[in-house]
Amino acid sequence: MRHALKAILTPFFFLLILASCATGPSREQALVSRAVDAMGGANALAGLKTVWAKGSTKQWEPEQSDVPGGEMRFANEAAFEVNADRSARASRTDYVKNFAYPAPRTFTYSEIVMPQAGYVIGVDSNGRNGQSMKANPPAHSMSGLRLASTQRESRRANVTSFVLDMRNNPASVAPAADVVAEGRSWPAVSFQGFIVAFDPQTGLPARIRTLDYDNVWGDVNYDTVLSQWRDFGGVKVPMVRKSELNGRVVSETTITDLRYNGPVDVARLQIPAAILATAAKPATGDVPYQWVIRRQYIGTYMDSDHVSYDTLGSPGLRLQDVAPGVSQLQGGTHNSLLVEMRDHLVVFDAPVTDAQSVWVVNAAKAKYPGKPIRYVVLTHHHMDHTGGMRGFLAEGATLVVGQGTAAHYRRVLASPTMRNPDLKARDFSRVQTVEVADKYVMSDGKREAVAILMDSPHAKGTVLGYVPDAKLGWVTDIWSPGVPLPAKPNPGLVAVVNAVKKANIQPERFAGGHGATAEYAGLARLAGQ
Ligand SMILES: [Zn+2]
Repeated sequence: MRHALKAILTPFFFLLILASCATGPSREQALVSRAVDAMGGANALAGLKTVWAKGSTKQWEPEQSDVPGGEMRFANEAAFEVNADRSARASRTDYVKNFAYPAPRTFTYSEIVMPQAGYVIGVDSNGRNGQSMKANPPAHSMSGLRLASTQRESRRANVTSFVLDMRNNPASVAPAADVVAEGRSWPAVSFQGFIVAFDPQTGLPARIRTLDYDNVWGDVNYDTVLSQWRDFGGVKVPMVRKSELNGRVVSETTITDLRYNGPVDVARLQIPAAILATAAKPATGDVPYQWVIRRQYIGTYMDSDHVSYDTLGSPGLRLQDVAPGVSQLQGGTHNSLLVEMRDHLVVFDAPVTDAQSVWVVNAAKAKYPGKPIRYVVLTHHHMDHTGGMRGFLAEGATLVVGQGTAAHYRRVLASPTMRNPDLKARDFSRVQTVEVADKYVMSDGKREAVAILMDSPHAKGTVLGYVPDAKLGWVTDIWSPGVPLPAKPNPGLVAVVNAVKKANIQPERFAGGHGATAEYAGLARLAGQ
């Protein structure tokens, strides 16, 4: 029977194949071929063996704003020089990065990227990992997460080889829906995780998109937008590349000098053998690209193969008792506080990712059995302290946030999260939200956990936490308890002292979203109280 069916079907399929051949190249192949020709032709593109370029980049972080949903923070402006050897698939980029946020500082460092490993020479972050701290002078191999992210971004930045790759791998080029951007429709193809949109007039690639996951806004479009094409000996190159996150420009790179096929000092593109031997391979699977890329924008990225903690410097997350029935999540780059009530728990801050929150939920179930998390208090809206809110809210908790910020969180919670690697997508639009106008007291009749609205130079609608019976406060980003205090009080520290006075509370200690715990008296003394 099966043979008989095959006998009938085979000539039919043969005819189909003939018919498709007769219609010529597919729409997708035609778009790719036209782009290759518009950029100078396959032979010219294949002839580009080495690249040297200089330029500058400006970056902005949307989710570190002063006002929730407000203007993006300008993060840094960098000068860079890149040398690449395409046949070896090796490159070196030297950076001088001048940061404006979270504090003015300059990082001068180099990145060497090979197919199997990445290497960073110099200091590129306030959050250095164990390997960087031990090395003298500072250097470290890239985590697999960073290597995969860097390789992905460099693939679409090297648009001449990217387009050639599409042409040489026709089986990987598939149909895609038109990309709608800038008020018009662009024909597009999909290719190895990218969606490539073409300019219908010039045929040039205009926009290279990935479908990313953002811990705040959920499913997002992340686009490289190519413009200002210039001719280099018959090859067309875009001199300006902007990165758009859901249509907002978060990065703008301008190439000022470019040379192909000049001499390249290959010794400068080598990763030392001892580093290569232990360096991470590029990560596969769910790479939190937006976290890895944008923490670098503000120079706070912890280069680690776990987003929550330094795998080379920390044994991992743990719940640390800081008062009777009060635990601080420690061991990671960002902390939470758990307060045990009669029949439930209150949690302050939901940092990093839902994977971290799910870890906390499970640890809390083991430590405080039968007590579900009923309230999630967020000190402020920044992505690194709210990116795990869904993991707690999925337990049925109420969201407690500062005055004037609830509308922002409702927009965030209404956004789609089909790509969330840590949590099944669900409807968060009916989450109960409470705005703290002055003080919001969560009480079980005996113990209280208090959320106090405060003025902060760090973010509008900031909340301070307080557990009266433990005389323990909770503060994030404006004071990191346990980290040595500066010689002079800064505006953030002064704001904490003013808030304590205004709320008329008597904390003995504070725990924090960074750091650990510290006596309050030390801060009060510093602020001259
Ligand atoms: Zn912050």
